[in-house]
Amino acid sequence: MPVEYGLRGQSAIVTGSTSGIGHAMADALAAEGVNVLLNGLGDPAAIEKTRAEMAEKHGVEVRYHGADMTKPDQITDMIATAKSEFGRLDLLLNNAGVQHVAPVDEFPPEKWDQIIAINLTSAFHASRAALPIMKAQGRGRIVNLASAHGLVASPFKSAYVAAKHGVVGFTKTLALEVAETHITCNAICPGYVLTPLVEGQIADQAKARGISPESVIKDVILAAQPNKRFVQFSELAGLLLYLASDMGGSVNGAALAIDGGWTAQ
Ligand code: NAD
Repeated sequence: MPVEYGLRGQSAIVTGSTSGIGHAMADALAAEGVNVLLNGLGDPAAIEKTRAEMAEKHGVEVRYHGADMTKPDQITDMIATAKSEFGRLDLLLNNAGVQHVAPVDEFPPEKWDQIIAINLTSAFHASRAALPIMKAQGRGRIVNLASAHGLVASPFKSAYVAAKHGVVGFTKTLALEVAETHITCNAICPGYVLTPLVEGQIADQAKARGISPESVIKDVILAAQPNKRFVQFSELAGLLLYLASDMGGSVNGAALAIDGGWTAQ
């Protein structure tokens, strides 16, 4: 029997939704009748095509805002735009993220700063701007797309692991601050999902470790994941929709692993 999430007519922002997980989550929300503000980098014509197709396919409003997640004033403007376009903001999914793989002593400082800005600090700026809107509505959901790397580390990913652990800490703090409201804040911590971000890592890890891309998938990536398969978009969407719905109302400040058993080890 299909699950009724009761989200029709709500509105959501999904940062970094021009690709990968963000795009899939935006599509899953639109399929439930949620109006969605897309965000992310990419070719303007391709983004417009994605936007129009999503709106047409699901019969909802889909807009795009090109805020750069390293620019606080653009992030604030993105939040204000969702409110002015849709009249409300029910869900903020802080998803935009980048990766760089290198040993600490070879890690470019500008890459460190970029990863912390996009993967961690943007969630602060977006949440900061979204909270007054959600408080005025008396309800809201903030979901941070962290990672299994918000719970455990791997070598060569210092900035990413630091940012994602930071996201988990930020999630817990915000959750406590809003605990007596009908706003919740949770982190989703996926294991490996096959997206352009991971495809890039396969190439980078192969270089850093001096092994073939096939060996990286088998011996590095899926070696960490006991179920030996990539996490599926549908598995992430199931948790996101649950958290967004009233069914998820008592889940607050949680860092929820969807990682095939990786962090159980
Ligand atoms: P992806 O590369 O497919 O998508 C990243 C998105 O972020 C894109 O839309 C990109 O345009 C956007 N983005 C990058 N820099 C930006 C900036 N400065 N401003 C605005 N948008 C920007 O990656 P993905 O795998 O879909 O990752 C999405 C999120 O999931 C990230 O936070 C990532 O850390 C997390 N995650 C991914 C995996 C995985 O295995 N793919 C696992 C755990 C967590």
